[in-house]
Amino acid sequence: MPFIRLFVKNLKAMLEFHLLLYYSLDMKLRILGDEVLRQRAEALVDINDETRQLVKAMFVTMDEAKGVGLAAPQIGLSQRLFVLRSDDDIDRVFINPHIIATSQETCSFEEGCLSVPQIYAEVERPEKITVQALDEHGKAFTLDAEGYLARIIQHEYDHLEGVLFIDRLDPELKEEAEKTIARREEKKAEREKEKARKKAKLEARKENYR
Ligand SMILES: [Zn+2]
Repeated sequence: MPFIRLFVKNLKAMLEFHLLLYYSLDMKLRILGDEVLRQRAEALVDINDETRQLVKAMFVTMDEAKGVGLAAPQIGLSQRLFVLRSDDDIDRVFINPHIIATSQETCSFEEGCLSVPQIYAEVERPEKITVQALDEHGKAFTLDAEGYLARIIQHEYDHLEGVLFIDRLDPELKEEAEKTIARREEKKAEREKEKARKKAKLEARKENYR
């Protein structure tokens, strides 16, 4: 019996690992210009094993991209879920969050975003907030946050509303950022097209030699 139990346990771990791999491989970061970043995300109705696998994979993707936070819309899922790790090094998960209070005092801090690569700008936001949310086990919690943590929560929360940090900049700065990203994405698409063309040419040549 212990053998069978061990086998089942291993099988479960193996399955979970593959699911995690599948999820993180599939997680392409969405870049400014992608519609999903502009949609208001939907509340999660069910928090289950799949949600927890998704959360794990989101942390993997976040770490690979060297980010401090990642919201579901950034990987193409229009769901009210984000993960983050602030300077206290705690992995935090927020599902269906509500910011229920914000301080009068605001502060300015330089922000960046995995969906707006290589653009950084000072953004003014409330210094302290109180947020209510569910964790990955469906447990409700209330958190008072300030400083860097409050900053990341507000940035990630914006993603669930279809808002990006550049929307909070002067219109000229925002336009400049949009143009820079659009140009970069265009060049990237051109490079990919060229690569595909070369590959097709090579394949055709191979075909001729057969
Ligand atoms: Zn972001």
